[in-house]
Amino acid sequence: MSRIAYVNGRYRDIRDASVNIEDRGYQFSDGVYEVCEVRGGKIVDLPRHMTRLQRSLRELQIAMPMQLTSLEAVIHEVTRRNRVTYGIVYLQVTRGVARRDHAFPAQAVRPAVVVTARSLNFDKNQETAARGIGVITIPENRWPRVDIKSVALLPNVLAKQQAREKGAYEAWFVDSDGHVTEGASSNAWIVTGDGKVVTRSADQGILAGVTRAVLRDVIASLQMSLEERPFTPAEAYGAAEAFVTASSQIVMPVVTIDSRPVADGKPGPVATRLREQFHRFSAFS
Ligand code: PLP
Repeated sequence: MSRIAYVNGRYRDIRDASVNIEDRGYQFSDGVYEVCEVRGGKIVDLPRHMTRLQRSLRELQIAMPMQLTSLEAVIHEVTRRNRVTYGIVYLQVTRGVARRDHAFPAQAVRPAVVVTARSLNFDKNQETAARGIGVITIPENRWPRVDIKSVALLPNVLAKQQAREKGAYEAWFVDSDGHVTEGASSNAWIVTGDGKVVTRSADQGILAGVTRAVLRDVIASLQMSLEERPFTPAEAYGAAEAFVTASSQIVMPVVTIDSRPVADGKPGPVATRLREQFHRFSAFS
């Protein structure tokens, strides 16, 4: 079956789908994106993703490319046409096409929209979660506006590659104060020896993850205690558990940090329980 993409108003076979070479997303990374999980053919937590998308667009003064309900309909249609029951849907909005000039186009152009969807292997993801992943720590080198989900991801790309070369799956950025900010494509969490779940507050230095936000509700409902505060790699090395969150992975246990085992080097009970309970608290549409 061929894959179908939505590109600026048309559903195309992905092999024929293309954008203009003067798209500002291509030339300047002048655009934003969202990734939603698809489960049982439904989109997980779409309203939260759409709220974040609108905020990212506002921060960059890019107009919504179409009405929210129409955009949601496109997301559902791309998912359906690609017959994704478990996987992800990717949405990208760029400022549009204009002759190359750094400043915004003098005459407003239409934002460009691309939506794709693809299936993921559910069993493989579960196996990875049962084994746990390794992370490395690296110095933070991103711009301060990481709260905007922009397609400018070069530091994240290089971080992820460095992790791969060290046999790890994810890289945690560490800021100039010596605190972990977040992963290259996930939020970072630890569990203390006395069972407190710790993650950095979303005020500064991180993307406000949708999975992170939903997990706060899960933690509250399970009457676990949550501390939103920074933590250092040293605290993480000595933690009872560690994990990362992202829409494509939900709660993924971390079993090594900089090649040191976290506790006994196996996924811990808190991360495992949060992963199991997560979808009871998500919205499906
Ligand atoms: N932080 C970064 C840098 C990310 O790229 C992502 C997801 O791609 C996240 C955090 C997690 O966000 P979400 O839970 O909304 O997928």
